[in-house]
Amino acid sequence: MEDLEIKLINIIEKMRDEIIEFHQKLVQIPSENPPANYKEVTKFLAKKMEEIGLEVSKKRCNVIGILGKNEGKKLIFYGHHDTVEAFKGWTKDPFGGEIIDGKIYGRGSSDDKSCVTAEIFAAKALKELGIELNGKLTITAVCDEETGGYRGADYLVSNGIIEGDACLLGDGPFGVPVGYFGGGMFMTFLIKGKQSHGAGFPDVPEPYRNEYSGINAIVRMVKIMNFLLDLKKELNEKVTKYPLPPGYPSKISDVNLAQISGGTKISTVPDKCFLHVNISTIPEQDIESVKQRILDFIEKMKEEDPDVEITVQIPIAYEPQIVNENSEFASIVKSVFNTVFNEPRDLSLFIPTTDAHWFQEKGIETIIIGGSRMENNIHAPDEFVFIEDLMDLTKIFALTALKYLQ
Ligand SMILES: [Zn+2]
Repeated sequence: MEDLEIKLINIIEKMRDEIIEFHQKLVQIPSENPPANYKEVTKFLAKKMEEIGLEVSKKRCNVIGILGKNEGKKLIFYGHHDTVEAFKGWTKDPFGGEIIDGKIYGRGSSDDKSCVTAEIFAAKALKELGIELNGKLTITAVCDEETGGYRGADYLVSNGIIEGDACLLGDGPFGVPVGYFGGGMFMTFLIKGKQSHGAGFPDVPEPYRNEYSGINAIVRMVKIMNFLLDLKKELNEKVTKYPLPPGYPSKISDVNLAQISGGTKISTVPDKCFLHVNISTIPEQDIESVKQRILDFIEKMKEEDPDVEITVQIPIAYEPQIVNENSEFASIVKSVFNTVFNEPRDLSLFIPTTDAHWFQEKGIETIIIGGSRMENNIHAPDEFVFIEDLMDLTKIFALTALKYLQ
């Protein structure tokens, strides 16, 4: 290990109490999304970044801190400060930031405030050691990740508010760098049929219908669901060759029929039905062809059933991504993991949706790190982060900046 690396690790260790205290306070500020009230949390984060000596700006509900100079390579650090709702069933205070047995409890303690705290203290460590970066480091604490990232990461990169050659995106599994990404797509199907008396004018086939017969939207949706389940079966035949983070079970693609609603009462033919579907694919399968097949099926349905209105909305669709494991950035991140964990950690695959695709679509090489282990209860009651993991994350951010921007 180089001298500066050792110094960086040592100074982060010295900041341990400060890191813990800051993280507790950050967890104590609710930033649930919804309702997405970020006033207090962004004020708190901006204040800390200013105190460290970063050049700070607030764009909508995102906080940005810059270190370094305008020439040279550009590196982005990412964490999201919004969390899912606290939900019920906690045995600890979801906004307590309580410490028990080396763990900090609270909503967002792991997902994803751990990365926000870590990136900020990584910058602080670099600053305190007086390390001159040969490039620009942009620290981002973004909003709205839990609801798609339109006002967060998308807004920042699409408008050129932040720029990078590479992004170390903190919002993933602990202990392994993620360089392989699944594809993802959210689809909503809306069907409009015709309401009628369920027994008087039921939805029956020709020649038993007349102009008063109903058109059952739920039955039409079942057709779509059957098609999707067949598609799922077919996609599931392929198993990915890419390694998964420890504990993650899914080596295959999925079509999740996530939410459905329709109908008014038992005596009535339902005229409306909607369905939310989340499709995730392994890197060996692509989103575009899956999307096309579904849309083709819908077109066929419309032709066969011209009296039915079917609308499909696709708010998010992105393809799988593969980072070149021998690129400079990937090699540096892997060597940093080797330093922090004392053993090599290869790039792994992560299928869940994150904000990574916003960066990747702009050509920014993105690797995910994170503070979430299987047992951390993210999006569930009693979420926590291990203090040791928070420390390691801080070191990973700091060492990556040092090596990439040296
Ligand atoms: Zn997250």
